[in-house]
Amino acid sequence: MPALSVAVAIDQRPQRRKRSRRLTIDADGYASIATRVPTPNFDARPAPTDISLVVVHGISLPPGEFGGDGVERLFTNRLDPAAHPYFATIAGLRVSAHFLIRRDGHLIQFVPCARRAWHAGESTWRGRARCNDFSIGIELEGTDDVPYTPSQYAMLGRVVRALRRRYAIDDVVGHSDIAPGRKTDPGPAFDWPRFRRSLTPAR
Ligand SMILES: [Zn+2]
Repeated sequence: MPALSVAVAIDQRPQRRKRSRRLTIDADGYASIATRVPTPNFDARPAPTDISLVVVHGISLPPGEFGGDGVERLFTNRLDPAAHPYFATIAGLRVSAHFLIRRDGHLIQFVPCARRAWHAGESTWRGRARCNDFSIGIELEGTDDVPYTPSQYAMLGRVVRALRRRYAIDDVVGHSDIAPGRKTDPGPAFDWPRFRRSLTPAR
């Protein structure tokens, strides 16, 4: 069918970028505006279409220090245990998240949402264990007790709104909500009312 092929080829010509780029999630679960940092730390979801939870995390490496590449290194198994005393205690971990939002709002994606990232650990939400199976993990660069930045709230709101257009997300929770007693992030510094407001921006 030559005519159809021609039509498809024309449709797939690169589009000129708009000045403010819309954040969309494609069929594999990649965010349109994210910087991709590939990692081997993921696997298949047991039920590929079962994506119903977003888990918000806080992380910084070394803890409380912002702007370095420690998180990217940890999530890609390249953390140098000799670079900082704390790194030596975690360098062997095989962990990841789907997204990291830096202090300036920059969005990094490690794992496509269709795959299972390793962010939640032992966890339960609404009676279901193993939250990694059915959740998307978003790390905010930060700590439990330092306010997250306006740029981070803005980007988190954009990401979650885009995720809701792609998946039937029922809940957005903190890591501390699904692993109470074991995890405290994103901590009291995370302003949940502010985040909830960002899901319904002014028109
Ligand atoms: Zn966490």
